[in-house]
Amino acid sequence: MTTFDAKQLANVGVRNLQPYQAGKPIEELERELGISDIVKLASNENPLGLSSKVRAALQDTLSGLARYPDANGFYLKAKLAKKFGIAANQITLGNGSNDCLELVARTFVNDSHEVIFSQHAFVVYPLVTQAIGAKGVAVPAKDYGHDLEAMLAAITDKTRMIFIANPNNPTGTFLTTDELSAFLAKVPANVLVVLDEAYYEYVSEAERAPSFEWLAQYPNLLVSRTFSKAYGLAGLRAGYMVSHPEVADLMNRARQPFNMNSLSLRAAEVAIDDDDYLQQSVAVNAAGMEQLVAFCDKHGLPYIPSHGNFLTIEVGDNAGEIYQQLLQAGVIVRPVAGYELPRHLRVSIGLPEENEAFIRAMEQLL
Ligand SMILES: *Cc1c(COP(=O)(O)O)cnc(C)c1O
Repeated sequence: MTTFDAKQLANVGVRNLQPYQAGKPIEELERELGISDIVKLASNENPLGLSSKVRAALQDTLSGLARYPDANGFYLKAKLAKKFGIAANQITLGNGSNDCLELVARTFVNDSHEVIFSQHAFVVYPLVTQAIGAKGVAVPAKDYGHDLEAMLAAITDKTRMIFIANPNNPTGTFLTTDELSAFLAKVPANVLVVLDEAYYEYVSEAERAPSFEWLAQYPNLLVSRTFSKAYGLAGLRAGYMVSHPEVADLMNRARQPFNMNSLSLRAAEVAIDDDDYLQQSVAVNAAGMEQLVAFCDKHGLPYIPSHGNFLTIEVGDNAGEIYQQLLQAGVIVRPVAGYELPRHLRVSIGLPEENEAFIRAMEQLL
């Protein structure tokens, strides 16, 4: 007799997959505590909210929603190509850059391969690796960041891909242009390097890596960027990957034809030209970072210097308790014990008054 066993039916990699732990939604805490005025600093979202230009464009797009989106994202690719001096056929659009990170793994990696990433790196890397049954190789971090020498040493003849987040989430650590270019020069050409630049826009212009320019020299390099952070479109899901055209061609065959919807396409087209909003995002972030760093310094709380839109603070052995007490005070931050950082909490940079709410709640607890 046969019995139904869903777990046995599932692919090996999926059976023991731990679901992605998202930041706690505001509505959920409202329901649980019956309070309002909740401050969410848990998912590195843009505290400015949707720009007025994007809002207007979305209104205009509504009437066309009975139609399928443009499956090739012609206008968005054209804008990205023009802005960054790349070719449209180097671009793969994604339902958020997470979609691209998953797509690259699905396109190039199978269960005989190894995928290298760093300890404390973005959890999506081990997730997508495990889901396809490949072996994840987590290389111990150095000063909370990527140890590129050790990552090179971890390459074997089974290695198919290396994920690098720069800046990294949840640590905010950053690799310089020199460090990265020396690394790329040493990676074998048959190993793909995925450089995840989700926080690129927050890095000062002088420090930004010329990652798109490197593509001409390194056809095994893929660079991902997102509209979820500095461009403020997290809820719409818009991201992209830039690579060698043949790599992009393969990924575009494997992706869902309508992985970006009409609203996210239109919003991204408008957002990419909205320099005022981007500048404001960066300025608000810099000011908020100073505010949080000053708080940490005042109380002698160690933190990991961050190049992103968040600060990961070492609050101590009772980080889990502090997280819960902050929730009671209506402030949602992000526990990072799942990233092997059990003494830290990650705090996204908010508006000045949101950062202040976090600081006040913390000062009550300290
Ligand atoms: C936030 C983040 C992303 C972006 O995810 P989206 O799917 O584009 O919203 C990608 N990589 C890292 C490291 C991130 O922190």
